[in-house]
Amino acid sequence: MINKIALVGGTHGNETSGIQLIHNWQSSGFSDELASRFSSLDVSLTIANPDALSAHVRFVEEDLNRQFTLEGLDKPSNESTAKEAKLAKQLNQKFGPKGDSGTDLVIDIHNTTSNMGATLIILEADDFHVQLARFVKHNMPEANILLEDEKPYLEHGYLCTMGKRGVMIEVGGQPQGVLREDVYLLTQTMAEVILDFCQAYNTDSLEQYPECEVFRLGENIKFPLNEQGKRTAMIHHALQDNDFAPLIPGAPMFRTFDGKDIEWQEAQETYPHFINEAAYHKLDVAFATATRIML
Ligand SMILES: [Zn+2]
Repeated sequence: MINKIALVGGTHGNETSGIQLIHNWQSSGFSDELASRFSSLDVSLTIANPDALSAHVRFVEEDLNRQFTLEGLDKPSNESTAKEAKLAKQLNQKFGPKGDSGTDLVIDIHNTTSNMGATLIILEADDFHVQLARFVKHNMPEANILLEDEKPYLEHGYLCTMGKRGVMIEVGGQPQGVLREDVYLLTQTMAEVILDFCQAYNTDSLEQYPECEVFRLGENIKFPLNEQGKRTAMIHHALQDNDFAPLIPGAPMFRTFDGKDIEWQEAQETYPHFINEAAYHKLDVAFATATRIML
């Protein structure tokens, strides 16, 4: 049974879609229609980092969505412990504890400045998550499924991993701090479809859906830098906004400031995403790669 579900927004304080959805559902509650659709579910609604919301920033001291490692949660706090590290421990008491959680599923809602549309991020490819991915793709064909299983579930530092199971909704492209209607509606639809899945799972009414396309995370590709660590190129216009479209060998990915193209040199095509994501600016990450698989 997937009974206790934590729906979370505001893990990053400037990602407005999840924040607005949580606020709206907190103030008006589920409509009668939604309440009956989700009758087997006990859904809590939480804003994870209210201080970051007030300050209109992604985080105040450290990225909250990297604080949920078992080591980090175990470490005793002292004066130098970052705000978000302390906050992670509080949230973990409420919705975890990670590894032995009282919450069946954590759904954590994010926005990206990249043109990723509505993306469901899953961290495992077990039967539950494969069924979830197929259900979401069947009911929301425009959705993308991203699988980040490069390490075991419990080794991720993501907030959603404090649940027995955890997934993320990642919707873009939307500038930080801005609320776009199209992005909001995609966010709401994906949240509802995931809850529909849980309801169907609980009531044994899941159908067998066909295999679906899944993008499996590869690695981060950095911007080219000079010896001083300054960027020498920007994302090529042919790549910009083309998240999850194939980048084929020989196709341009960067344009240098002196007007030359830098091409994708690998032997295989890749499926870039988080292209030019604003939050990864400091890390000089240009995009992430993925392979396309069927699950
Ligand atoms: Zn985020």
